[in-house]
Amino acid sequence: MTLTRSKSDDLLAQAERLMPGGVNSPVRAFRAVGGEPIVISSALGCRIRDVDGNQYIDYIGSWGPMLLGHAHEYVIEAVERAVRSGLSFGATNPTEVHLAELIVEMVPSVERVRLVNSGTEATMSAAVRLARGFTGRHNIIKFEGCYHGHSDCLLAKAGSGAMTLALPDSAGVPPAVTENTVVLPFNDLEAVARVFQEQPESVAGIIVEPVAGNMGVILPRDGYLQGLKDLCEKYGAVLIFDEVMTGFRVALGGVQERTGITPHLTCLGKIVGGGMPLAAYGGRRDIMECIAPAGPVYQAGTLSGNPIATAAGRATLELLKKDPQLYSRLEAQSAKLHEGLDALASKHEVKTCSNRAGSMMTMFFQDGPVVDYATAKASDTELYGRFFQGMLEQGVYLAPSQFEAAFVGSAHGDEEIELTLAAADKVLSRLKESAR
Ligand code: PMP
Repeated sequence: MTLTRSKSDDLLAQAERLMPGGVNSPVRAFRAVGGEPIVISSALGCRIRDVDGNQYIDYIGSWGPMLLGHAHEYVIEAVERAVRSGLSFGATNPTEVHLAELIVEMVPSVERVRLVNSGTEATMSAAVRLARGFTGRHNIIKFEGCYHGHSDCLLAKAGSGAMTLALPDSAGVPPAVTENTVVLPFNDLEAVARVFQEQPESVAGIIVEPVAGNMGVILPRDGYLQGLKDLCEKYGAVLIFDEVMTGFRVALGGVQERTGITPHLTCLGKIVGGGMPLAAYGGRRDIMECIAPAGPVYQAGTLSGNPIATAAGRATLELLKKDPQLYSRLEAQSAKLHEGLDALASKHEVKTCSNRAGSMMTMFFQDGPVVDYATAKASDTELYGRFFQGMLEQGVYLAPSQFEAAFVGSAHGDEEIELTLAAADKVLSRLKESAR
């Protein structure tokens, strides 16, 4: 199948004249996989449609938020109702209170919560400023390949777009700003213990994606998260789980619910806003009480908690709460896809290693195991690019980078999983042929 794409091409040409790289976020530009991006005009359930009328089964889900599928009737109605009453008041509104209540109820470690507009805001406020303000210390430990948004001091050896474009350190970040960022390998508890032993009173906090998703999906080793928590408790540092991607995805209460290991602070984003610009950070009451106006750590936002974004978030969390079987259904569909892809890769003798946590997964084009940034980087990104392009031609929209997750949502039914596997069968067989 060759896709018609004349309208996409025209719009992209125009976009490139107007916006850097033609996009508003780097990975959308398809630089890592070659070819031209498609311009999306609408989405429903797990399917998206481009401006030329081509349809695709979508495994990006707006990079995570669309767990319940695009344009879910209940969420759309909630937003439509809210819109009629005004877009933003810059004052407390009932919906943000209801959403805060749902978050506190669902996420085990969260006793108090602050709503913000993006994951970046959540991590830079919670991780950096609040952990430092609470402890009176300066250093933040982060891990190679984990991505915590684009604030200066967390943009060191970051995953996601920075990894895709091989820009682990961004231009424009003065060295002084990352001086207090300690970057260590993921899944290496010893490395963290050494930092604490050498400077027992310097670490304000550790920020970690408790299941990494931004260097592709990488699971924490047994004991790793508990080990981080024990070290933080021993040395008086704040443990921050960045659950922007994993929150409400791997379980209602995120990785912390799945593992029973609760951090001191949690960052949320993506699903919590149901597809609107909304994120949150929260955690232990005494730490959160340091945030202004309750305490001395300043953080604010003109549009924070606005009635439209919170309506989408509230409707989404209400749906999740009403459907206790949702996560077992997601697990079953995701396992079917994961196992199916693995079987096809071995049938066609293409070397792959798949990592999955619930409905987020990555098929790395290499033998594996993939346990950290260094092992993830060993993937055959050129081969991934060809797989991606082949799947796109077959009507399956995967992340345009080896170092991202694929997301399964509640709208991915048996039919879509089977169509995806049939497409992968064709594409993998061609990859094998061309490798000969
Ligand atoms: N943290 C994690 C774990 C993320 O995956 C992301 C975005 N992919 C962010 C933070 C930043 O969120 P945003 O793009 O909303 O700023």
